[in-house]
Formats: sequence, structure tokens, C-alpha cells
Amino acid sequence: MASDCLFCKIVAGEIPAKKVYEDANLLAFHDIDPKAPTHVLLVPRRHINSLAAICSEDAGTMAELLCAAPTIAAQLGLTNGFRTVINTGPDGGQTVGHLHLHILGGRSMHWPPG
Ligand code: AMP
Ligand code: ZN
Repeated sequence: MASDCLFCKIVAGEIPAKKVYEDANLLAFHDIDPKAPTHVLLVPRRHINSLAAICSEDAGTMAELLCAAPTIAAQLGLTNGFRTVINTGPDGGQTVGHLHLHILGGRSMHWPPG
């Protein structure tokens, strides 16, 4: 756990979150400032700074993350599709330094993103 990390604190239960999914290695919870009718963040319990910081040892975690996304989307009733996003670094729009996958749905998404 990174002591100054918001999502590590959510994983540890030190900051409340509306959980929608959890397993041994992952946790998903509603975004506090949703950008779509459904907006969930899926995080590895283990602290990883960003997609730019992953290495081959994280391959299993990344596979679990991607495999869980459609399961969670289905659980949330996103039968008409959904958007997954990983913002990376300042230019990528990353504001929390703990790797997370956005799952957005409930409306038609725009492309390209801003
Ligand atoms: P990003 O900008 O890609 O790093 O995404 C960070 C996301 O975390 C944003 O969509 C925020 O709204 C969300 N967020 C920030 N604080 C919290 C919190 N305490 N609980 C849930 N989501 C949060
Ligand atoms: Zn963290």
C-alpha cells in the first residue's frame, strides 16, 4: 500500500466507496464524480502507479482487470455496450496515481474523446 494513495485507502477501507465488485486482487466502485449514467472505477488492490509503470510481472493482474470489466459491465446492466478508459500521466488526464480502468455506460459515447 502507498500511504498517500487515495485508491489504496479505498482498498484498505479507510475511505468509503460504493463497491460494486471485489475479488482477491481487484476492487470496483462508483466514481465520485460520474461522467456517464454509470461510471465505475476498477482497480488492482496492489498499488501500481499507472499503465506506464507496469512490467511483465503485472501481466496476470492486467489480464484479470480486463477479464473482470465485461463481467462488471454485465452486472451493472450495460447490455448495449460500454466504454473502458485508462488515463495515463498528465497528458493522458490521470489525476489519481493508482492504476484504474474506467467503465462508463448508460449513454452513447462520443469519439474521439476530448
Ligand atoms: P483519472 O482522472 O483517470 O485519474 O480518474 C480518477 C477518477 O477518480 C476521477 O474520475 C474522479 O472522479 C475519481 N475519484 C476521485 N476521488 C474519488 C473517490 N473518493 N471515490 C471515487 N472516485 C473518486
Ligand atoms: Zn494506491
